[in-house]
Amino acid sequence: MTREQKTKLLLHVCCAPCATVPVVRLSSRFDLVLYWYGPNIHPQAEHDRRLEEVRRLAKIKNLQIIEEPYTPEHWEQAVGPYLHQPESSFKERCQTCYHLRMEYTARKSRELGFDWFTTTLSLSRHKNSKILEGIGQQVASDHGLKYCNESFKKAAGEALSVELSKKYGLYRQDYCGCRLSLAEAEQRRRKKSY
Ligand code: SF4
Repeated sequence: MTREQKTKLLLHVCCAPCATVPVVRLSSRFDLVLYWYGPNIHPQAEHDRRLEEVRRLAKIKNLQIIEEPYTPEHWEQAVGPYLHQPESSFKERCQTCYHLRMEYTARKSRELGFDWFTTTLSLSRHKNSKILEGIGQQVASDHGLKYCNESFKKAAGEALSVELSKKYGLYRQDYCGCRLSLAEAEQRRRKKSY
């Protein structure tokens, strides 16, 4: 099948290392376009650094990237009621954050006339694939789209991501993205150093 004959899919990218495996695994079936929307990421310097790495990956893999501007107020507004919760796929804080990013991905898919979308989020072992699937299917149904449900962490996905990130010299951050996860990571580091 030629590139022109493949179905278009909009791939929401949370960061370059998490995108490495989905790009490899989906490319044979879909004509991928990367979608950058990171209102959760704090501070802006970190957002810009992660975006720059995604741009680099897009260039390496010869993929188009669509970029949204930095809008942390989207995340603050959506997650505001749940700021007291810890990082967890089973809490509204993270579920709302997943939903926000998938909602924007679905809206952009419709705007572009793409039937399919998905997200790189399922690569992380910290993110529950079933929860992501539920949110993805719901968002897809709300917009009359199809959600490509694939758990990228399966089949040693994380190890492959580490390997590919090393190969491409990609920056790998040590916290999920939001200001709360940054504080949680700092707390973990402090505990380890005692
Ligand atoms: S920990 Fe990650 S998924 Fe959870 S709210 Fe923060 S950025 Fe979003």
